[in-house]
Amino acid sequence: MKIAVIGAGFTGLSAALKLSRNNQKVTVFEKERTLGGLAAGFKKKGWHWTLEKHYHHWFTNDQSALSLIKELGFQKDMLIPSPLTSVYFKKRISPFNSPKDVLTFPHLTVPERVRCAIVLAYLKILPVTLALNLEKTTAFKWLPKYFGNNIFNILWKPLFEGKFGPFASGVNMAWFWARIKKRTPKLVYLKGGYQRLLEKMAEEIKKNKGSVKLNTPFKKEKITDFDKIIFTAPSKIFTLLFPRLPPAYKKRLNSIPHLHALNLLLETPDKILENQYWLNINDRSFPFIGVIAHTNFVDKIHYGNKHLTWFANYLPPDHPYTKLTKEKLFKIYFPFIKKINPRFNLQPPTFSLHMFLGPFAQPVVLQNYSKIKPDFKTPVKNVFLANMDMVYPWDRGTNYAIELGFQVADEVLKS
Ligand SMILES: Cc1cc2nc3c(=O)[nH]c(=O)nc-3n(C[C@H](O)[C@H](O)[C@H](O)COP(=O)(O)OP(=O)(O)OC[C@H]3O[C@@H](n4cnc5c(N)ncnc54)[C@H](O)[C@@H]3O)c2cc1C
Repeated sequence: MKIAVIGAGFTGLSAALKLSRNNQKVTVFEKERTLGGLAAGFKKKGWHWTLEKHYHHWFTNDQSALSLIKELGFQKDMLIPSPLTSVYFKKRISPFNSPKDVLTFPHLTVPERVRCAIVLAYLKILPVTLALNLEKTTAFKWLPKYFGNNIFNILWKPLFEGKFGPFASGVNMAWFWARIKKRTPKLVYLKGGYQRLLEKMAEEIKKNKGSVKLNTPFKKEKITDFDKIIFTAPSKIFTLLFPRLPPAYKKRLNSIPHLHALNLLLETPDKILENQYWLNINDRSFPFIGVIAHTNFVDKIHYGNKHLTWFANYLPPDHPYTKLTKEKLFKIYFPFIKKINPRFNLQPPTFSLHMFLGPFAQPVVLQNYSKIKPDFKTPVKNVFLANMDMVYPWDRGTNYAIELGFQVADEVLKS
């Protein structure tokens, strides 16, 4: 079969890898100049490793990703550190890594800390079969009921409001469960960066006589050149590429809201966060929702000895920040970076700024999402859809992209 795969992110490359291993003639179309989509990396002069444009790590239970890494010969190149997570609230940074941190969290009373630890433990052990029922309610109803209002207002509400903005109160509880269920204290990174894995996948596809065309957006006119097509870009783009979809199907896909990811990356001679990798900002007067210090996770020696820190945001597509230059965005963020680290006082050009926008990066799963979750099969004959709207109840991630890519390849092979 001649098969076109649209998108060279992890979903598209995984699908193409499996199909090419099964002797199918695969062509991957990627509109960008690089592999990787949302997980794509870049490398500056003087760096030994690539860095993802948006912060990335794997959990130690990301089986599909870790198996692929091993299968492609990178087992000995896996780094498995235990970087620190903290919460910024009321001008104070408090650790939030372990049950011990929950039980000593300074902004809660002792009974609240115990309650918090018990509810988190309950969510952690709840199996997926039972957790799916949680989609019938919203996190905004479930969390205050079981954690109590104070814990909800301090720990969870600011994160939901920061991440989901106007959709915060509608996100279903199964999404929150999945976030708690998945977390592992140790995280995994690949020496060299995610790009190394992506390149190895593309290399094998080519070895299996497939082709990977970068800088080549898939155009409608090419549809008849192929027996099957797998589309792995966001659903919104699918509805634009295939405008004559049945209205009910189009309405269903378009009813899933998406947020863009906007990340400002600072490359600095000094540390911004002392020793934390991940800092949740639980103060909604801040213009960003998290600070992620990559070089408190991976040694800065690989990046020209500079400290790399992201300031993270998820925003609706029409948010004014998505139209700003990196300098203007930095100007807005600067006084708040100073609140986190009063010693931070650098002015360009003593440090570098990078800004990355990830379009439609985060699907928002509302109540009873499983009823509208898209399927691989679409109303267009021989055209399959496989994207991050379909990995629910799990949240978007490269582990699920790899799993999804393999699954859609099986579906195409069966058909
Ligand atoms: C801020 C942020 C942090 C994240 N952190 C993590 C993390 O820590 N760990 C983790 O595992 N995951 C993380 N993720 C999620 C992960 O990056 C994504 O879930 C995953 O990369 C999605 O892969 P994909 O192939 O499904 O989609 P995408 O990566 O979106 O790939 C789709 C591809 O299709 C291409 N395309 C679109 N239109 C066309 C067209 N017409 N023709 C050809 N090509 C087209 C796009 O350019 C893109 O390359 C994060 C994402 C973001 C945004």
